[in-house]
Amino acid sequence: TIEFVRATQLQGDEEPSGPPPPTQAQQKESIQAVRRSLPVFPFREELLAAIADHQVLIIEGETGSGKTTQIPQYLFEEGYTKKGMKIACTQPRRVAAMSVAARVAREMGGGGEPLGIRFEDCTSERTVLRYMTDGMLLREFLSEPDLASYSVVMVDEAHERTLHTDILFGLIKDVARFRPELKVLVASATLDTARFSTFFDDAPVFRIPGRRFPVDIFYTKAPEADYLEACVVSVLQIHVTQPPGDILVFLTGQEEIEAACEMLQDRCRRLGSKIRELLVLPIYANLPSDMQARIFQPTPPGARKVVVATNIAETSLTIEGIIYVLDPGFWNKQPTSFQISCINIASANQRAGRAGRVAAGKCFRLYTAWAYQHELEETTVPEIQRTSLGNVVLLLKSLGIHDLMHFDFLDPPPYETLLLALEQLYALGALNHLGELTTSGRKMAELPVDPMLSKMILASEKYSCSEEILTVAAMLSVNNSIFYRPKDKVVHADNARVNFFLPGGDHLVLLNVYTQWAESGYSSQWCYENFVQFRSMRRARDVREQLEGLLERVEVGLSSCQGDYIRVRKAITAGYFYHTARLTRSGYRTVKQQQTVFIHPNSSLFEEQPRWLLYHELVLTTKEFMRQVLEIESSWLLEVAPHYYKAKELEDPHSKKMPKKIGKTREELG
Ligand code: ADP
Ligand code: MG
Repeated sequence: TIEFVRATQLQGDEEPSGPPPPTQAQQKESIQAVRRSLPVFPFREELLAAIADHQVLIIEGETGSGKTTQIPQYLFEEGYTKKGMKIACTQPRRVAAMSVAARVAREMGGGGEPLGIRFEDCTSERTVLRYMTDGMLLREFLSEPDLASYSVVMVDEAHERTLHTDILFGLIKDVARFRPELKVLVASATLDTARFSTFFDDAPVFRIPGRRFPVDIFYTKAPEADYLEACVVSVLQIHVTQPPGDILVFLTGQEEIEAACEMLQDRCRRLGSKIRELLVLPIYANLPSDMQARIFQPTPPGARKVVVATNIAETSLTIEGIIYVLDPGFWNKQPTSFQISCINIASANQRAGRAGRVAAGKCFRLYTAWAYQHELEETTVPEIQRTSLGNVVLLLKSLGIHDLMHFDFLDPPPYETLLLALEQLYALGALNHLGELTTSGRKMAELPVDPMLSKMILASEKYSCSEEILTVAAMLSVNNSIFYRPKDKVVHADNARVNFFLPGGDHLVLLNVYTQWAESGYSSQWCYENFVQFRSMRRARDVREQLEGLLERVEVGLSSCQGDYIRVRKAITAGYFYHTARLTRSGYRTVKQQQTVFIHPNSSLFEEQPRWLLYHELVLTTKEFMRQVLEIESSWLLEVAPHYYKAKELEDPHSKKMPKKIGKTREELG
């Protein structure tokens, strides 16, 4: 069992006793009655009046108050879609957009067809309400820069500050200036609304008071080593010891959710009739829509439902009947790079709040109260501040925005960083000398990874090794958590790691690990025996599949190098020629900036000290270390980046006198 301690309470504005959770009969009540029971309903007229009076309105309301599903309907009923005009409502996530579109279609009757509420692709002439992702609305700007066919644009879940949403803000603010009749709504959970108001020239904020019951917060006494296992145990513990009410668990992504669901189902099966029925329902981006719909179905009497969700259930989707929330405290910042990180205080409280929507609830945090107070950051850093600016530039350029220096960002990136990004994209061949997007730049904009990585993937076409490069790309995205080194088995673990070494460098080692794992049938036993983290490998496999799915869009065919690793190394060089270093008499220096750098002691090349190499990243600890290094030949640089390197700077006057070994050995470094 896991021991929790009750620490604090999230204050509600309703009496703790409150109405009981909805019964079956209430849930079957007419859909219109449900609409009228939502917190936004009493404000319908006031809200419509405010929208009529102001071009831009910021709407703030507790999650589940009806912003997403109701406001577009009110606008429709008010006649905003007359004369063939449309209403757009954007969501950061595709699953959320699909789910609410389906719900609204049902609420408006007739299953959506006659009235035309649609999600994306299947838009028809008659579509009046369009629920779409923020990325889709961005693409609308390509065909319709003034959004002329829209009467209202509602940017929903604005507090998430996704890159796409942030860019939409800049574009919409501009359009609103020359289309005074366009209505702009910015909807957000109760976070940060003042920022939005300031950005839109002090637009008024409309507040929808929420309905919130108190939530008791529990923390674990000590940190949990394996949070997935801890989650499964806690769910069963809640199921066995707590009164009725459904459970919501927050995990980071598909692979984790599937694993947790399997574990739960497995243990329930083993417990058999000793426990009441537990319905285990997953929800994540790639889940088929009929499975997605299941999370909203009422729980049968006597049973309990546990929904295992990604961050999507934090503010985008509201599931009725949740009384218990289980929060391990992690989320995945970028689905294609698997940067699992700690959530922040704002998110932790949002998550807890999900337990108090229909009655007083409980939130179990799988971290300590100390960690909550001392280790979590306050709020989410906007994606635009943490993503590589190269991607932002590619996106804006592909939208036809050329003057990036004057683009109206909600949080402008630093000028120097923007300049560096432009310079790098030029070097990578994504922009031409006029700063325009090239064909390969257009393809790079399609791949949701760092520009250097997308360049590497594109280059794998030329070197016929896309199979291997996809693996390298996927492994790089989880690269710091592949090997593990238990304290009592350090020697074994290090030996296992060294056994994967291949001449050429760390990228090939990663490739080797993945290939052997695939040959083992993606086995967890194999991972265990080789001191490889199974979970990281599964994530790598996930990323690899996602990337493979995008290859067609960027016109790269699947091909294998058949063991000719020179081709793989050249393709990597084509993406990372920016990150090169050479061995000089005084150690390694980066080729362009002449910065002093060191090979990381964990690298397979640590003792080899090749003359030329490229690195995946620099990490500054005691020194500037190059992590994931690959041996290259200087002539390859001229082959892959003739515009960037001159033969002269690649000459090596000291080549004959080069000392065999420079720097300390691994032992000396400890
Ligand atoms: P907000 O956007 O303010 O968070 P929503 O409009 O998403 O609120 O939710 C309002 C209500 O609609 C909630 O009670 C929620 O449970 C319900 N709802 C939303 N989507 C669905 C769906 N797909 N199926 C059933 N109910 C839904
Ligand atoms: Mg919403």
